[in-house]
Amino acid sequence: MSLEFRFTDEQEQFRELLADFAERELLPRYIERSAATEFPYDALRQLGELGVLGIGLPEQYGGTGEDDPVLLGLATETLARGDVNIASAPIQVGLVAAQLVHGTEAVQQRYLPGLIAGEFNFAIALTEPGSGSDAAALRMTATRVPGGWRLNGEKTAISWAMHAEGAVVYAREPGTSRSAGVSCFVVPLGAEGVTKRHMLGMGCLPLGWGSLHFDDVFIPEENLIGEEGRGFQVAMHHFDFSRAAIGLMCLGAAERSLEEAAVYATQREAFGRPIAEYEGVSFPIAEHATYIEGARWVSYKALWAREHGFAHTSLASMSKWWAPVVAKDAIEAAMKIHGNLGYSAEFPLQQRYRDVAAYLVADGTAEVQLGIISRGILSTERLEV
Ligand SMILES: Cc1cc2nc3c(=O)[nH]c(=O)nc-3n(C[C@H](O)[C@H](O)[C@H](O)COP(=O)(O)OP(=O)(O)OC[C@H]3O[C@@H](n4cnc5c(N)ncnc54)[C@H](O)[C@@H]3O)c2cc1C
Repeated sequence: MSLEFRFTDEQEQFRELLADFAERELLPRYIERSAATEFPYDALRQLGELGVLGIGLPEQYGGTGEDDPVLLGLATETLARGDVNIASAPIQVGLVAAQLVHGTEAVQQRYLPGLIAGEFNFAIALTEPGSGSDAAALRMTATRVPGGWRLNGEKTAISWAMHAEGAVVYAREPGTSRSAGVSCFVVPLGAEGVTKRHMLGMGCLPLGWGSLHFDDVFIPEENLIGEEGRGFQVAMHHFDFSRAAIGLMCLGAAERSLEEAAVYATQREAFGRPIAEYEGVSFPIAEHATYIEGARWVSYKALWAREHGFAHTSLASMSKWWAPVVAKDAIEAAMKIHGNLGYSAEFPLQQRYRDVAAYLVADGTAEVQLGIISRGILSTERLEV
């Protein structure tokens, strides 16, 4: 029995390729791009060319074929060193495509090649004004009509709402409650009856955050994803993957920030010495490096467990609640070590702080994750000894 904490040679090579791309192509324009509300589609196409958007997706549409959540985690962690927002694209495409592969052949052919090539992206529309953490309380309706459904309702706080080609939308059969009766649909966002409203966040501006209104939007039969009335179960299963990947993305931004702080600490002098010689500076670097290392391996263990078919829901929730907190705190420490420069908009630290803060809430808050973990620990099965 062996236990290995290292990546394969192929994974390392891919990591090096992406690290170079993040350093040369992404980081130099991160601040400029982050101030814009347009997503940089040129960068998305570059990710497509690098093969990042097709990890684990069907080969016939341009993907790698093999399910490889660890590689996807490694990709997003590495890209986030350059640009957190661009690094979120492979997670979004992975999460959307994992649902589209349960759709009809027509839907897969229409959307998967473009998603994998980075030509466009999709939104995932679950949250509503009256339901976020309690997603099963959603109220949007899908009413059966000849040839399909009519959708009515509102989704809010949706990433990519403003730029996406389409959205994976969850809506319920009228008269049903909780998760029963919820189906998942592909909705082209140019469809008649769809309107969008931009929402400005404290970060993540290029992701085009917004709300989507659906006013009697017709959706044909072929746009149903998975089984009618079972859309909720499909969505929840895939969040187990995205939560760990999001954790790693946040940590990538934190790792880069702490490295910048370490370099700065050896160069900046105060009271006649490099500030790195003061334990008030060097110990926080050591502490945050320790937290990052711990959170990284929880996240990779979740993805490894998914790849090998082991239970990983609690691990994914551990990653999702802890890694964004660890990352935010590490970036804050790096900002403080940079003194006034850490607060300056000319340095990427403040931008990373604002972008990473999104993931304290997006994809499920810490409290929701702690609820999942504690229910696993406190279940009667586990406690029977
Ligand atoms: C940047 C960003 C991007 C997002 N992108 C998307 C997207 O693409 N698609 C999408 O569908 N949604 C998206 N969301 C929405 C996100 O998933 C929800 O905001 C999140 O699930 C929380 O829901 P809520 O905002 O309604 O808060 P609420 O559910 O109202 O929660 C409010 C507070 O109460 C706490 N709380 C709630 N229930 C409990 C409980 N049982 N025990 C303890 N505390 C509790 C929460 O932790 C939180 O602190 C995004 C959000 C953000 C900030």
